[in-house]
Amino acid sequence: MTALILDGKALAKQREQMLTQRVNLLEQQPVLATILVGGDPSSATYVQMKINACGRTGMGSRSIELPESTTTEELLATIDELNSDSQVCGILLQHPVPAQIDERACFDAIAITKDVDGVTTQGFGRMAMGEQAFGSATPAGIMTLLDHYDIALEGKHAIVVGRSPILGKPMAAMLLNANCTVTVCHSRTVDLAEQVSRADIVVGAVGKPELIRAEWIKDGAVVVDAGYHQGGLGDIEKLGLENRVAALTPVPGGVGPMTINALISQTLEAAELLA
Ligand code: NAP
Repeated sequence: MTALILDGKALAKQREQMLTQRVNLLEQQPVLATILVGGDPSSATYVQMKINACGRTGMGSRSIELPESTTTEELLATIDELNSDSQVCGILLQHPVPAQIDERACFDAIAITKDVDGVTTQGFGRMAMGEQAFGSATPAGIMTLLDHYDIALEGKHAIVVGRSPILGKPMAAMLLNANCTVTVCHSRTVDLAEQVSRADIVVGAVGKPELIRAEWIKDGAVVVDAGYHQGGLGDIEKLGLENRVAALTPVPGGVGPMTINALISQTLEAAELLA
């Protein structure tokens, strides 16, 4: 078996063309506000990639950079201003923020109509209940990728390794909504290898290079790797998988471009809802 490569880079590029056409139909240019707190170089790169994607599709962006010493109150005040700014249709608060900030309070301060990165508690709850909401960008991008490649989900056993609020938990809810049987694993899971070996679909969202070993994964599985580490490693070891699994996401070029694509797609949707 030769694995189907779930090419997020190519799909994101293709979808950007469609997004550009939709942006051109709007009277007012959609604007995504990005908030970067502190000087973490990786976060700065991620934010710049999101701003670049806005530029490629004709959307506007407003970049807000706050110092490392920013307080929760200061960040809340910035979010409040953006909530009431009629030119801004989406707000991205780059995760993680410095430790002194109450990140959950700040995420939850984002107006639900502008929560295009899908980080609010309310948005998560609505999504989990199957109500209209912008999904958390990374799992939403993964779902778009699986859909594009016609990966069957109904009745499949999906394992999500990781339960973070922005990735593992919403991923599990989205797969459940798509009628998978879902197991969520985390740092206290006993015998991760055995859990993973039972899965038809494995999602690596653990943040540790190649923690999920190739030998744990069963033949014919679908492998989705959200991780990206130095040296091009993901959260899942790929050794030999290309010859025995049904499909897999490359690292890089799989989940990452789809995350950005989900963010800008949802920004455009927010603008269309406002228009
Ligand atoms: P996170 O907040 O650090 O969460 C990691 C999760 O993995 C936690 O739930 C943790 O369990 C679990 N975990 C840690 N060690 C484990 C172990 N030994 N066995 C089983 N589970 C373990 O990370 P995140 O923000 O969700 O990100 C996860 C990965 O996705 C990272 O590689 C990150 O770079 C990547 N990511 C990619 C994108 C993208 O756009 N491509 C976006 C976001 C994240 P506990 O809950 O028990 O601590």
